[in-house]
Amino acid sequence: MSNGTVVMKFGGTSVADAERLKRAARRIVAKREAGNRVLAVLSARGKETDRLIADAREVSPHPDPREMDMLLSTGERVSCALCAMAIHDLGHRAISLTGSQAGIVTDTSHTKARILDVRADRILRALDEDSIVLVAGFQGVSTAKDVTTLGRGGSDTTAVALAAAVGADVCEIYTDVPGVFTADPRIVPDARKLAVVSFEEMLEMAASGAGVLQLRSVEYARTHGVRIHCRSSFDDAPGTVVVSEQETMEQPLITAVTHSTGEARVTLMGVPDTPGAAGLIATALAVANVNVDMIIQNEPVGHGSRADMSFTVPRDDLHDAQVALEPLAAQLGIERIATDEAMGKVSIVGAGMKSHPGVAAKVFTVLGEQSINIEMISTSPIKISCVIQADRVPDAVRALHAAFELQGEDTIRPEQPFGAFS
Ligand code: ADP
Ligand code: ASP
Ligand code: MG
Repeated sequence: MSNGTVVMKFGGTSVADAERLKRAARRIVAKREAGNRVLAVLSARGKETDRLIADAREVSPHPDPREMDMLLSTGERVSCALCAMAIHDLGHRAISLTGSQAGIVTDTSHTKARILDVRADRILRALDEDSIVLVAGFQGVSTAKDVTTLGRGGSDTTAVALAAAVGADVCEIYTDVPGVFTADPRIVPDARKLAVVSFEEMLEMAASGAGVLQLRSVEYARTHGVRIHCRSSFDDAPGTVVVSEQETMEQPLITAVTHSTGEARVTLMGVPDTPGAAGLIATALAVANVNVDMIIQNEPVGHGSRADMSFTVPRDDLHDAQVALEPLAAQLGIERIATDEAMGKVSIVGAGMKSHPGVAAKVFTVLGEQSINIEMISTSPIKISCVIQADRVPDAVRALHAAFELQGEDTIRPEQPFGAFS
């Protein structure tokens, strides 16, 4: 049942300078004046998080994760305090809160913490007192009472978790593109905006690199029944609504092409081909909180009782992966650990794929025609992913988008150059 509460989340580009921040403030106030209770979640301004990471690396090559979180959490606090000031000047009450003050409790995995609980009583009290509440995105407080952050793009998850906790009617994600597109519109200018996308497809898209919504925010929304509306912070046009599978009218064969250029490949050469070795390797990586994506194991002919194992990890996790694997390599007698940091991934996602053979053949053929070498492949019922060299990713995305004829009407118009959204 509607309780008239709306969550509005503004990403970094949408609050990058004073003008944009004031525009976000006006939009928040307009929503309040339309009779809603408004809870807004803000990201750090512009590239502030990247700057803070660079600052840390300048003083320490592998900064301590707890201190990293103390540092990174400041960016979103700045945005919220400034926005509260701008809202005051528009004649409304507003209060800014850190993640901790907002009651966001997480586990203790610094730099990629998971939300365990949202104790929203302070937010609800402020809303009852007729205040607009601004919450710093991307952060919480751990069960050990330390400041944590939720991983890159984590403000989306803050917004969804708060929407669930206060029973908001909708969680609006205001960003620098007009919604979720058939491909990243920065790479494919004629990509089409999707009016709706199912949770099932959005999960696969987010997991395979469509950074427009953080994967965990989509998972959280599905579990807690939160309605996400992803839309432009620069105009009023409707964006993309993430809906349940039952609500989607049609199931196109392919919905989107997604990509990532931030992958690294680790190859363990000469792994003893004995039961349990893979388990030990996967456990070491899991303990180090490294997200392993694709895994391939093969036993080279004539190589006796040893196998090679390759897997991909986010490039940012490569150092942690190496640290976790080195003692194990010694223990198991693995001959060599090789790494390749310049990997990327291109994927196609579509619920219609379930009942159509031949999609994989077309993907491989299209990439072959572009002379793009496929290094690893993985599939799910509604996704096919290929690991390729990072520098070939844009060509691969454009070729697949064209081959599956995903371009269409609702694109970013030529008279509105893409720069207008950034
Ligand atoms: P914010 O700072 O608002 O959170 P992000 O940079 O995290 O914004 O996400 C928006 C960006 O996601 C867009 O600028 C776009 O380049 C990128 N993107 C990648 N894939 C897609 C897609 N399929 N649809 C829309 N945007 C996408
Ligand atoms: N500021 C954080 C980041 O850049 C979180 C977010 O924007 O969602 O990843
Ligand atoms: Mg984001």
